Amino acid sequence: MQTNWPELLQFDQQHIWHPYAKMPSLATIIGVQKTEGSIITLANNQTLIDGMSSWWACIHGYNHPVIKQAMHAQIEQMPHIMFGGLTHQPAIELAQRLVKLTPNGLDKVFFSDSGSVAMEVAIKMALQYWISLNKPQKKHLLTVRNGYHGDTFATMAVCDPDNGMHAMFNNTLTQHYFAPAPQMGFDKASDNQDIKAFEALLSQHHQTIAAVAIEPIVQGAGGMRFYRPDYLTQLNQLCQKYNVLLIADEIATGFGRTGRLFACEWANITPDILCLGKALTGGNLTLAATLATTNVSQTISQGSSGLLMHGPTFMANPLACATAVASIDLLLSSPWKQNIQRIEKHLIHALQPLNDQPGIKESRVLGAIGVIELEQADLGEEIQKVAVQEGVWLRPFGKLIYTMPAYNIPQTQLQQLTDGMVSAIKTVLSLK
Ligand SMILES: *Cc1c(COP(=O)(O)O)cnc(C)c1O
Repeated sequence: MQTNWPELLQFDQQHIWHPYAKMPSLATIIGVQKTEGSIITLANNQTLIDGMSSWWACIHGYNHPVIKQAMHAQIEQMPHIMFGGLTHQPAIELAQRLVKLTPNGLDKVFFSDSGSVAMEVAIKMALQYWISLNKPQKKHLLTVRNGYHGDTFATMAVCDPDNGMHAMFNNTLTQHYFAPAPQMGFDKASDNQDIKAFEALLSQHHQTIAAVAIEPIVQGAGGMRFYRPDYLTQLNQLCQKYNVLLIADEIATGFGRTGRLFACEWANITPDILCLGKALTGGNLTLAATLATTNVSQTISQGSSGLLMHGPTFMANPLACATAVASIDLLLSSPWKQNIQRIEKHLIHALQPLNDQPGIKESRVLGAIGVIELEQADLGEEIQKVAVQEGVWLRPFGKLIYTMPAYNIPQTQLQQLTDGMVSAIKTVLSLK
């Protein structure tokens, strides 16, 4: 049957909310027919090279046959069963992999449905840890500016309070402590002013602080900023010195994106609590996980309640878990490190020439993440439009035009992707 796209899109515009959108929608929403590898086929049959991996998630590209096969098999066997009092092989096999692959010592796993909820659970674990130790006054969090940890109420309270997307809720959110953002630059030498400011806050308030929450190495939606591993090493030492827990939010960085399987590895640290999401299922289904050390789980278990007070309806959905197992096995059996290095090298080569151009603040690349920061914040929509004409899918926000392609994107498509990205930026900025 013929799809009546104009009619569907009209309904969409009038009735369906999109991420961070008005109702009815003012932005152009583009219909998608199908996906394959790094190619998105639109309703009008135009094809786009995908530069977004659907927000960090689709690391193997779309419709990977190995993952599709695992999904089909699990659908035949058991798409879902409740997790209260019951268990199943996909959840166990996934937990085995997560315990083995994540930094040493993280050996307790809590499954949930989305990144925000994984962070909520992490925060809940941290608060419950101190309640169990009879220190309920340790109930605040310390974080850094430019962070992003989700859209739910507990997570909004640790997103950047000014440039974040939630400033209007500030007076209803729990008040936490914000240190300056880590200085930008993955391999730049630093005067450590940032870590000193962080320690000043921690030394003053540690008696009321339950945990430090931070995105390791890459601050994602709060600014696409990369910072040095040494900052993280020192931050981890300070958490131990002042007796607060460390929550590492690897929802964006997890599963190889920065060139290490987990960004914590750059600093060789084990946080007390680790959050995973986005690429966990290779972007095929929604699933997230919160991992904790035995110290955290034992302390919570010895508290007066003893129970971790959380349990989503779709916790450890078998189809999602089986998909995640297939995605992780596929990742580990692929030359993912070489792929990330290949993409990194290409992105540096392609984006660096934009440095020092008028209207461009800087370009930066780490692993399979390429960012152009503009001087001006209101050109994203126009650049996106031109990029689509150039056959490339990007989703700029604010001053940031960025890409994080699938790890297995073919070299010719990677070239087309950066050509389209650079050309769209140059066209809109009227550069030669
Ligand atoms: C995307 C993201 C989240 C939120 O995940 P959702 O699945 O969108 O709820 C949290 N933290 C970080 C670092 C993220 O990138």
